[in-house]
Amino acid sequence: MRDDFPGLAGGWHYLDSAATAQKPQVVIDATVRAMGADYATVHRGVYARSANMTLAYEAARERVAQFIGGKADEVVFVRGATEAINLVAQSFPKKGRVLLSVLEHHSNIVPWQLAGWQVDVCPLTADGCIDLDAAEKMLTPEHTMVALAHVSNVLGSTLDCTRAADLAHRVRARLLLDGCQAVPRMAVDVAALGCDFYAFSAHKLYGPTGIGALWGRAALLEAMPPWQGGGSMIDKVSFERTTFASAPTRFEAGTPAIVEVLALHAAIDFVESIGLAAIHAHETRLVGQLREALRARNDITLFGPEDAAGIVSFAMDGVHPHDLGTILDEPGPDGTSVAIRAGHHCAQPLMAHLGVSATARASFGLYSDADDVAALMAGIERTRRIFG
Ligand code: PMP
Repeated sequence: MRDDFPGLAGGWHYLDSAATAQKPQVVIDATVRAMGADYATVHRGVYARSANMTLAYEAARERVAQFIGGKADEVVFVRGATEAINLVAQSFPKKGRVLLSVLEHHSNIVPWQLAGWQVDVCPLTADGCIDLDAAEKMLTPEHTMVALAHVSNVLGSTLDCTRAADLAHRVRARLLLDGCQAVPRMAVDVAALGCDFYAFSAHKLYGPTGIGALWGRAALLEAMPPWQGGGSMIDKVSFERTTFASAPTRFEAGTPAIVEVLALHAAIDFVESIGLAAIHAHETRLVGQLREALRARNDITLFGPEDAAGIVSFAMDGVHPHDLGTILDEPGPDGTSVAIRAGHHCAQPLMAHLGVSATARASFGLYSDADDVAALMAGIERTRRIFG
């Protein structure tokens, strides 16, 4: 696998795939084609190149829909999960109370605050999962939205989505799932999960930056007013009165990210050619190996559940995560270095809950292997020798 990823050349131990995944050559090739020989605008041209681009752009929408179990007219192309959540927070017509959780990424907290929602916060269980027993007690008819991470970007904990959907629907609230960390590492079927909105970014799914998708139930999207005005999202414009296109076009003002959309299509084809079940099993094995190796030391605190999905957060006694990350970035005896993430991971409320200012986080991708785990453990030992 690693040979398919130019970004991994030189034996780099890249353990920051939860931040963004490296790109396979097929995605790079699709980008070059879309930006080169095939390039033209979409939805407007009368010439063949533009008509073909439009077909390819809409085919990518079909592909995204198929990938997550929805319908094409329920898929809105957005800049990423952040924009998807901002769109719902601003445009959902029944702004009321929203139930979030302690482990949410800032991009699933701040948009609700900015849009004027009343925010309630569901606690976590001892092992770092969203406590749905508590959610059940907290939810009231005033809640019109529940917005939760499908998989935590810090702890790797996975939400029981069907139960969350059931709890939300009992009080007639809608469930939005932040799927950023789920789509790259497990098969997602929005119909089976029972959610109402699903958001993800392409760049964590081995695709490009600047593109992502919001899936929403057709009736809900249709009831939502536009949130940005401009070209493409209209039906008729006059100075007296403007009418709007139907969803999803209504939410895609301006010339879209044509090249990125086509590259996302290639990324989905790539990931599905390997299979999400295989990727999940592979990453789960690596998480098990890493947690076991870390637990064998007496200077490490592990966060998150045993069955974490692809992500392991930890703290090292007496060593700030930034120092650990910096030392790991220096080449070891074999000349290779290890990239981990150190910081608050855009989850400051979760850091406060854990009682730390930062954690060290290793996260896996489909190209990660046991050598990466071994290199990380060797780097931790090197760090211990430096810090004593
Ligand atoms: N939610 C989660 C769980 C994430 O991990 C991330 C990215 N770190 C985001 C939301 C935001 O994604 P983006 O920055 O691509 O919009």
